[in-house]
Amino acid sequence: PSFDRMKLKEELLRGVYGYGFEKPSAIQQRAIVPIVSGRDVIAQSQSGTGKTATFSISMLQMVDTQLRETQALVLSPTRELAVQIQQVVLALGDFMNVQCHACIGGTSLGDDIKKLDYGQHIVSGTPGRVIDMIHRRHLKTRNIKLLILDEADEMLNKGFKEQIYDVYRYLPPQTQVVLISATLPHAILEMTTKFMTDPIRILV
Ligand code: AMP
Repeated sequence: PSFDRMKLKEELLRGVYGYGFEKPSAIQQRAIVPIVSGRDVIAQSQSGTGKTATFSISMLQMVDTQLRETQALVLSPTRELAVQIQQVVLALGDFMNVQCHACIGGTSLGDDIKKLDYGQHIVSGTPGRVIDMIHRRHLKTRNIKLLILDEADEMLNKGFKEQIYDVYRYLPPQTQVVLISATLPHAILEMTTKFMTDPIRILV
């Protein structure tokens, strides 16, 4: 198994090796190619498996950096996690000229508005601030083609269910969805049936 065989963009591959990764982890081996080919994916996996790089590499492969509009959106349960994801995306995308913004509560609204109006290929955020920016029309959803729900069970535990459903309602029909969760309780499965089409399930 190798990153070379995943047909990634040259500049992305440079970023992956530049970050110090040599070989894909199990989840990366199983999930990146299906995600990039457009499949909905449910990954039952925890931190430490390489899940963040799995969806970060996939998003970077899928965005068109020539189009400075939001094309991939990640929702995660905490501000810290949203920022970590942004940092991984920017590091892996170091050779790509990609804009990735962390859209999180507790930060200046003015800064969010400025960054979003400039144009962000990828947005990594917490559900509350993300829906706020969608309602204010600064986060434009019309070009979003990929939604990542990271630590989905934790997001539900934190009471973000309504906000996640609200965000989903603003996305174009047929938006591809990747859901990562350590556990798959009923409320998660319900979300997968509402948001996803013929998902692949991966357990790592
Ligand atoms: P995560 O599961 O996203 O929390 O990642 C756990 C840790 O594994 C992070 O420190 C990553 O930088 C590291 N990691 C992810 N993928 C790889 C890889 N292919 N090779 C080496 N380290 C990796």
